[in-house]
Amino acid sequence: MEPRVIKIRQNHATGQKVILPDPQVIETRENRKTGATILLVNNGGVWTTTCETHGAMAEHPTRRMGTSWMAEPMVWCAGCAEEEVAR
Ligand SMILES: [Zn+2]
Repeated sequence: MEPRVIKIRQNHATGQKVILPDPQVIETRENRKTGATILLVNNGGVWTTTCETHGAMAEHPTRRMGTSWMAEPMVWCAGCAEEEVAR
């Protein structure tokens, strides 16, 4: 088991600190173009795509957008962009 990480996000407007709930992995996919493992994560209401292979992350306003960006990690992950060039 990995240690439990508690994330704290500071609201820059109010200075208030908010503890985010544990990020939930909603979907896992292996990308066909780069072979990387891409996760769709709901991080306290913020949708993020994460490339588990290279450690890159991108935030998306909606789940639908997050899902569509799962298929294009070359755009938001430098590691995946290199894999695509190499192939
Ligand atoms: Zn990647």
